[in-house]
Amino acid sequence: MKHLVLAGGGHAHLHILKALAARRWPDVEVTLVAPHARQIYSGMVPGWMAGHYRIEQCAAPLGPLARAAGVRFIEDSVGGLAAGKRLVRTAVSGDLAYDALSLDTGAEIDCSCLAATGAQLLPIRPLENFVVGWTRLLQSLVTQGRAVIAVVGGGAAGVELALAARYRLTRELGAANVQVTLVTGPQLLAGHGQRIVARVAQTLARQGVAIAGGYAAGTPNGLQLDDGRRLDADAVIAATGVRPAAWLATSGLTLAGDGFVAVNQGQQSISHREVFAAGDVASRIDAPHAKSGVYAVRAGPALTANLERMLNGLPPLAYQPQRRSLYLLATGPQEAIMSWGGVAAGGRWAWKWKDWIDRRFMSQYHPGNANRSGEMHESA
Ligand SMILES: Cc1cc2nc3c(=O)[nH]c(=O)nc-3n(C[C@H](O)[C@H](O)[C@H](O)COP(=O)(O)OP(=O)(O)OC[C@H]3O[C@@H](n4cnc5c(N)ncnc54)[C@H](O)[C@@H]3O)c2cc1C
Repeated sequence: MKHLVLAGGGHAHLHILKALAARRWPDVEVTLVAPHARQIYSGMVPGWMAGHYRIEQCAAPLGPLARAAGVRFIEDSVGGLAAGKRLVRTAVSGDLAYDALSLDTGAEIDCSCLAATGAQLLPIRPLENFVVGWTRLLQSLVTQGRAVIAVVGGGAAGVELALAARYRLTRELGAANVQVTLVTGPQLLAGHGQRIVARVAQTLARQGVAIAGGYAAGTPNGLQLDDGRRLDADAVIAATGVRPAAWLATSGLTLAGDGFVAVNQGQQSISHREVFAAGDVASRIDAPHAKSGVYAVRAGPALTANLERMLNGLPPLAYQPQRRSLYLLATGPQEAIMSWGGVAAGGRWAWKWKDWIDRRFMSQYHPGNANRSGEMHESA
């Protein structure tokens, strides 16, 4: 019997669980290690903040999915990896020996520049902590009767979170009692086309979200902006860039220049043929791409096929990530902005489209819907 360890309950691993529920692999025992009983889908988190979804609608329950797949589920974190010894080190459940290992543990958020912000700091990852933190914050702001929020991060996630916070707090407290500022770094939506940047900037202005360009550093009361301004806030939401988990550096795996696991065209580690990785934790050496959920989702079928091939002594098949993605950004009320190639458009119809895609994507991971399939659009 061979042992496959799945580290992390990310998007690509959800696909493996679904595939195993449909067809088990002979003579392979599978263990999933993930720190929480559910996998929260980031694409629906801004909609949840805005009040459009219950959190259960935005999460895939890992226990039932693992049971249906005949997979042992250990609710624990991977705290280390000794790739040379084929050992995964978990935080509390001891070491796990493997014949094949698949990593889909995502990325951490790098908010080191905001460390001095202290207790008011609310990083977007891990999503489980963010969900608890936002729920508490909302309650205390409602009691206080007014809110001053800063969101740091000028990417699509920062935009969506700022608009969601503004919309929800305005509903709860009234527009006059709410101030939301988005700190964007040198450029709003760097890497996106001019049309979408202009449309997003208009939307932020219309919804009453102030934009501060430049960088911010944390202070005990909020933020210090690099133009000299101080921004005191009840809370600072961090949607700053991603960084790899510290344990990767001592894993023995060859890492890419960005510190994530270097993988080849088959999502296989370039240093250890029995280790595979997909999603934000992996960096394709041959075809670098953005770290976003849509790539993690799309890599799922290739990862599944190649793990099975590797366990049967076959070489992995090449997989080509897509070059362009559909972007659908939630803008607070039930409206969204769509970007495809150079085209930007939006309104209620775009929200309806996004909502349909997101619900359909999640429905395949709710118990009893094993035969459904769904795609994912990109927003961050
Ligand atoms: C607000 C927001 C909105 C976004 N919206 C979109 C969108 O609409 N479309 C899109 O394409 N992208 C979106 N993104 C980006 C997207 O969230 C990530 O790129 C995507 O989640 C990466 O998927 P993944 O499978 O690599 O990892 P994740 O989804 O982060 O999953 C990682 C899993 O590993 C587990 N894990 C973490 N550490 C460990 C450990 N040490 N041991 C074991 N398990 C571990 C986690 O609990 C989790 O189950 C958004 C991001 C944010 C912040």
